[in-house]
Amino acid sequence: MTKPASTAVSLGASDGVSLLHRKIHEYVKGEPLHVLLLGRNDYTEALAENIAQTGYRAKIVDSISHLLAREEANTFAVIINMDVISEKQHQWLIDLADSNKQWPVIALSSEDNLEIRATAVRMGGQSFFTAPFDTHAIITELNALSERFERDPYQVLVVDDQRSVADYYSSVLREAGFVTETITSPMKDLMPYLQHHIPDLILLDLYMPDISGQELAGIIRQMSNLISVPIVFLSCEMSSEHQLRALCTGADTFLTKPVKSADLLAAVESRIRRGRTVRNLVTRDPLTGLLNRRETLRRLDDGVARFQRYGHTLSLVMLDLDHFKSINDNYGHAMGDKVIKHFSMALQSVLRDDDIICRWGGEEFVLVLTETGPDITTKIVQRVAAFLLDSSPFDDFKYTFSAGIVSAEAGMNSENMLDIADRRLYQAKAQGRNCIVSRGD
Ligand code: GH3
Ligand code: MG
Ligand code: MG
Repeated sequence: MTKPASTAVSLGASDGVSLLHRKIHEYVKGEPLHVLLLGRNDYTEALAENIAQTGYRAKIVDSISHLLAREEANTFAVIINMDVISEKQHQWLIDLADSNKQWPVIALSSEDNLEIRATAVRMGGQSFFTAPFDTHAIITELNALSERFERDPYQVLVVDDQRSVADYYSSVLREAGFVTETITSPMKDLMPYLQHHIPDLILLDLYMPDISGQELAGIIRQMSNLISVPIVFLSCEMSSEHQLRALCTGADTFLTKPVKSADLLAAVESRIRRGRTVRNLVTRDPLTGLLNRRETLRRLDDGVARFQRYGHTLSLVMLDLDHFKSINDNYGHAMGDKVIKHFSMALQSVLRDDDIICRWGGEEFVLVLTETGPDITTKIVQRVAAFLLDSSPFDDFKYTFSAGIVSAEAGMNSENMLDIADRRLYQAKAQGRNCIVSRGD
């Protein structure tokens, strides 16, 4: 298999360091994703095991030549344990990052100072973890880096009145694994599109006959659900004064046509990654990485609307850990947190990628399953219970949960569904806990 090409492009002063783009042509659909770990010690060995349990292939390599030799087609991240590798190897990795290929790098280091962080950045480090290493956070980072491949490809909206231009940019992006949508008549098509889709990035032509890109950017910035979506202007506009004025509307950068494909990909990819990081901060719970209550309510409303309009079945589950207070009291709050994280991992292992898994608050969770009726939902929740029995890593105790299930019926709204699920959860508790209630009494 040929190695993926990469190109270094400077994105201007504001980016500071040159960003490197790695094409994902070599990504083979359906094949497992690989993570390489450079630098062997007890921690990396344990980490590799944890990563493998998440479903990735994880391999530890002891030297850079092994790293280069080992690179598999679907390698999507390299974890570098900076504690283990030598200064000379650091320099070698920096040279590699500068001169040719580049993987997204996650750097681990017990030391934390500007110097070591700068070294990590020069090696292509996109994230930096210091001791004590949080394995769960590292895996969350891997999930964020890998989601573009199957679960959640990067989506770009291209707005340009010239069809040929829009198609050209769209094809460059698609070839590199992005999903694209093109709009050539923004006056007519943009608002309806944005009412139902939140792209990861909008590529906007600056000069169009009916409305300018600058005006459109202004409109997009008025929409609160699109606040974290990066906007990139495309134009032949050369004057830096004009560029600056255009950027003042809230766009992120400016690419001058004709744009080289490598520049386009680098600009788009780095901004999408940052945009998604920001979006995750807003929509996810920091302890577990699960969706938070606000985002879940928004998605639940969408799901209920689709059920009412098109009849797509929808079920909601409310779960609460049993006697959780006594786990905190007997084993400490930190152990309580571990249980919450383990439970979120159990939910993620059993449910599908497109199911909504939410940390509703404390030790309460909400699931929203689309195209799933009450019987299947009950089976899925039973599978979660079985998973806990089989895979509990806690030596001194087992923990359980109770759940209330409701499936959408004509005339119900989100609030009704949450109310009913909550009441059924209460019944499950009353029936002695470790129990699932899916029907009214
Ligand atoms: P039940 O079976 O009736 O649900 O009993 P319970 O003890 O699980 O329920 P209760 O509501 O009495 O206690 C929940 C406890 O969860 C109280 C709270 O301190 C704890 N808790 C909430 N959030 C967190 C968290 O983020 N970490 C930890 N460790 N504990 C938390
Ligand atoms: Mg509880
Ligand atoms: Mg509770």
